[in-house]
Amino acid sequence: MPFTTAGGRVLVPADVPGTVLAHEHLVLDLTRPDDPAARVSDDAAVVAELAAARSAAGLGLVVDLTCRGMGGDPARARAIAERAGVEVVLATGWYYERFHPGGEPGDSVERATQLLVDDVRDGLGDGIRPGVIGEIGSHGEQASPSERVGLLAAAGAALRTGLSVATHAHLGQGALEQLDLLTSAGLPPHRICIGHQDLVDAPGQHAAIAAAGAYVAFDTVGKASYQPDEKRIELLLALLDAGHGRHVLLSNDISRDAYLASRGGQGFGHVLGPFRAALAARGVDPPTLDLLYRENALRWLDGTERP
Ligand SMILES: [Zn+2]
Repeated sequence: MPFTTAGGRVLVPADVPGTVLAHEHLVLDLTRPDDPAARVSDDAAVVAELAAARSAAGLGLVVDLTCRGMGGDPARARAIAERAGVEVVLATGWYYERFHPGGEPGDSVERATQLLVDDVRDGLGDGIRPGVIGEIGSHGEQASPSERVGLLAAAGAALRTGLSVATHAHLGQGALEQLDLLTSAGLPPHRICIGHQDLVDAPGQHAAIAAAGAYVAFDTVGKASYQPDEKRIELLLALLDAGHGRHVLLSNDISRDAYLASRGGQGFGHVLGPFRAALAARGVDPPTLDLLYRENALRWLDGTERP
């Protein structure tokens, strides 16, 4: 299944020149009284960082998983990507329960599924259509009732539209339940990417996701307050050593302005630059780096080929 960019281009993997960031946010607003800085709002800085990543690391495509209730702005995200000279795929779905917008997704899987299908078919406004379903959230080892509806509706909408699904497994937890819920609804594992697995020291869980045929996202690279990158590398090397190199996606998940390089953060270029160099220094060979930084993400998005 080709995937649609915010600019309306319908792409297959061969159309994307260069590297991919599999889980980012170009415009985001999750601010609340106890966290007034939870936003990505500096469009000019985001443009500059993405353009620099295109020049330095061949960035070709960003998957922006800002979904319903996350304070995104599809037209602004599209403009940012255009100015930076990269493609962006936008998303629909529901994040974890704290951020479910009023009354959504509701208690009917069928109604929630139809809402997402309508988003995909009719667009998000300004003629912009989503090309992926995510980041579908749960928090803790068990999804709450409304998070279950969100996950089952994501699976149903993915089956009806041909899009792939990315999840938000809060702090890496609840990953196997998410995978079970999505596959129990009939979604094949190779259309599923389980998020934030680099936040949990659980090599057995990572291997189980990969062995089931799904994708394991190490998508918060550089967020040192949660986990040092050295630990991420150790967990990633374990997956590679076990033969799961075709099941791993990488990204930064830039989710607040403080993470931007211009504000002293790691920036959008982190996983593509310093982290890649660290992997190479640990002996990850160029063909494997190409899987991690390009091929896997495109194969997951397109979904026509199994890993
Ligand atoms: Zn995210």
